Amino acid sequence: MTAFGSVFMPEMVLTEFNGDKWSEPQLVPSDSISMHPGAHVLHYASTCFEGLKAFRHSDGSVKIFRMDCNIARFKQSSELLALPPIDGEQTRAMIIQAVERFADQAPEVPGSLYIRPTHIGTEPAIGKAAGPSSTSYQYVLISPVGDYFSGGADSTLRLLLEEDGMRCAPHMGRIKSGGNYASALLPTLNAKRDLNVDQILFCPNGDVQETGAANFLLIDGNTLITKALDESFLHGVTRNSILTIARDLGMTVEERDLSVAELLERSRNPNCEAALSGTAAVLAPVGTLLHNGQEYQVGNGKAGPTTAKLRQTLNDIQWGLAEDTHGWLTCI
Ligand SMILES: *Cc1c(COP(=O)(O)O)cnc(C)c1O
Repeated sequence: MTAFGSVFMPEMVLTEFNGDKWSEPQLVPSDSISMHPGAHVLHYASTCFEGLKAFRHSDGSVKIFRMDCNIARFKQSSELLALPPIDGEQTRAMIIQAVERFADQAPEVPGSLYIRPTHIGTEPAIGKAAGPSSTSYQYVLISPVGDYFSGGADSTLRLLLEEDGMRCAPHMGRIKSGGNYASALLPTLNAKRDLNVDQILFCPNGDVQETGAANFLLIDGNTLITKALDESFLHGVTRNSILTIARDLGMTVEERDLSVAELLERSRNPNCEAALSGTAAVLAPVGTLLHNGQEYQVGNGKAGPTTAKLRQTLNDIQWGLAEDTHGWLTCI
């Protein structure tokens, strides 16, 4: 099996901002782009991206999930990084063009086409450490992906609760930008090696935030608890979709601060569940938390029924097996 996101369709849709306007988007080969070695992105990390999926339904149609949310976030990331302004309508047309091009090769569900819009500052200007790139590339890459849970959805994750470090600078948290992943990488690798955990759950000063690339949700009986939106963490589209579905199913959703102390206390409840949310997996169950050298089981440590139910309900909408009551799918 190939790793998630390591296979790319041979073409992508690209546009260039020349300092004044965007060029007409073109389908171009996806195996290389050309830029100056002094390009702004390579030195000062002027880069952001998105991740969303398109699904093949049994009637043969291909539908893109919550595209407008990802475009809005892409626009905001670009603004907060002082990259050239994204034209949302143009990006939307680029995503549709890229998906249309490869729609006939969309895998059957639970596979999908993973869509990766990317925006990078290209101005050759190493003197602009404190200035924005006046030019950029924006492109939409497509990667066919298989079943995230092909190894089974029953295995659970082990997370280290880290109170001292943070994932990224607090004012950068809601930007989907390369530098944030670079910042979380070495602490995560060290924790994997030394403590045999899967991810770090960053909890600066005891405030439960998120892992390197996924939001954290605590499910205690009929109540779902997750941090309220602020600047410090990434506002996941999956997080928002799961909260909406939880409310639809009659659950109580609490968007508020969650402390490490409360998390560990609630985890002792045998019915407690925890999960990571993101586009790749939807919901991945968390079974164990490590904190100050001690291990804590979440509930019974196994993948729980509410996590499975929420994931299935969202998958059913994405896959065309349940009615799309919130208008989340765009037909191409
Ligand atoms: C992409 C991402 C998420 C999940 O966002 P989705 O829109 O649900 O895919 C969560 N946290 C971080 C840091 C991310 O990069």
